Amino acid sequence: MPGFELFGDLERKEVNDVLDNGVLMRYGFDGMRKGHWKAKELETELQNTFQINHVQLVSSGTAAVSVALASAGVGAGDEVIMPTFTFVASFEAIMMLGAIPVLVDIDDTLTLDPKAVENAITDKTKAVMIVQMCGSMGNMNALSNICTKHNLLFVEDACQAIGGTYQGKPLGSIGDLGCFSFDFVKTITCGEGGAVITNNPEYYKNADHYSDHGHDHIGSDRGAESHPFLGYNFRLSELHAAVGLAQVKRLPEFLSIQKKNYTILRDAIGEIPGVTFRKVPEGGEESYAFLNFFLPDLESARKVSASLKDKGIDACFHYYDNNWHYVRKWDHLKNLKSLYPISNEVKKGLQTLQNKKFEQSDHYIARNMSCLIKLSWTEDEVRQRAETMASCIKSCF
Ligand SMILES: *Cc1c(COP(=O)(O)O)cnc(C)c1O
Repeated sequence: MPGFELFGDLERKEVNDVLDNGVLMRYGFDGMRKGHWKAKELETELQNTFQINHVQLVSSGTAAVSVALASAGVGAGDEVIMPTFTFVASFEAIMMLGAIPVLVDIDDTLTLDPKAVENAITDKTKAVMIVQMCGSMGNMNALSNICTKHNLLFVEDACQAIGGTYQGKPLGSIGDLGCFSFDFVKTITCGEGGAVITNNPEYYKNADHYSDHGHDHIGSDRGAESHPFLGYNFRLSELHAAVGLAQVKRLPEFLSIQKKNYTILRDAIGEIPGVTFRKVPEGGEESYAFLNFFLPDLESARKVSASLKDKGIDACFHYYDNNWHYVRKWDHLKNLKSLYPISNEVKKGLQTLQNKKFEQSDHYIARNMSCLIKLSWTEDEVRQRAETMASCIKSCF
C-alpha cells in the first residue's frame, strides 16, 4: 500500500514549485505564490478521484474524522458507533469532541456487523462510523438502511481503502461524510495529511471553516474574515499538499500494481485446505492494499504468523496480538488513561468496555492474517513470496 515506495521526479517537481515561491500556507499570499495553489489543486483532483462534490483537506486522517463529525454537529454526550477492529484514531477522534465511542462487533467483512450496530442504537446515538479496514468494506447497503431508518449520520473512515469501490462508487463517497488519511504509510501519501469528502454543501462549508479557526474564507483579507462559529487548526501545508498532488495522479498505477501483486499471493494460498478469505460484499471491489485470510483457529494463526516472520515474510499482521488495531489490547482506553479529566458521560460510556467480551470479533480477528501489499516488489519477489507463504501455511496445520 505505501505510496512512499515509489517517490520520484513528479513529487520533487511539485514540492519545488512550492519551495521556489516560498508560500507554504494554503490560504492567502496570492501575489507571492505565482499561481501555485497545491492544496486547492489536490482538492479538485480528489473530487474527481472520489466522484464527490466537496473535498476539504486537513492535517491528518484522525483530524478528518473529528472534522467530519464536528461538521455534522456531533459533540458532547453523543454516541458514535464504531467497530472493535480499527485503528486507535477512531476513538481518539470521537473523544476529542466529547462524544462517546460505542464499540460493536465485526463480522466476516472485518468491519461493522449490521446486526450488532442495530442492537447498539440508543436514544443518544448520533452516528455510525464504518472503518473500511485493510482495503475492503462492510455491508454498505445494510448499514446505510439502518442509518436511514434510525435517522443517523453514516460516516466512512476509508483511510485504508483508497481506491476501493462498492457498486461502482468509491469507498468514502457512500456515507454522508467520508474520511481519508494520507499519512506516510497510506496508499497515497502527503507525508502527513487527510481529507473529508461529502456531497452535503453545509457539512463542507462547516469543515472548511472549522479546520481553519472558524474563518469564513470570504474576501482576500484574512484579518478581516469573520467567525460564524468556533474552530480549530487542522490545516494542511502547501508542502504536504504538493506531495499528495503528485501521488494522487499516480493512484491508478498504484492500484493496478496492488491488484497484480495481491492476485499472485491469493492464487498461491487460495487452494490450501483450511484457508478462507474475508468476505467482500456483493458489488464490492477491494483496493487490494492488503490480502486478508482466515486460518482454522487461533493456534494455527499464531503458528503461521511466527512461521512467516521466521522465513522473512514481513508486513503480515496477526491483529489479535497487535496493540494498535484491536480492542483486546486497548488497555489505555479501557482504563481511561487520560492526561486530563474526561467528562462523566464519556467515562460512563467507556466503563462498560472493562468487562465486555467481543466473542464474535475474537472469532474473526483471532484467525485472521492481514498481509500488506507493497508497490515496490518485483514480479520475481512476489512469486517467491507467494511460494514461501504457501509452504509456511501448509507446514502449520
Ligand atoms: C491511518 C488511519 C487513520 C489515521 O490517520 P492519520 O493520518 O495517521 O491520523 C484513521 N483510521 C484508519 C483506519 C487508519 O488506517
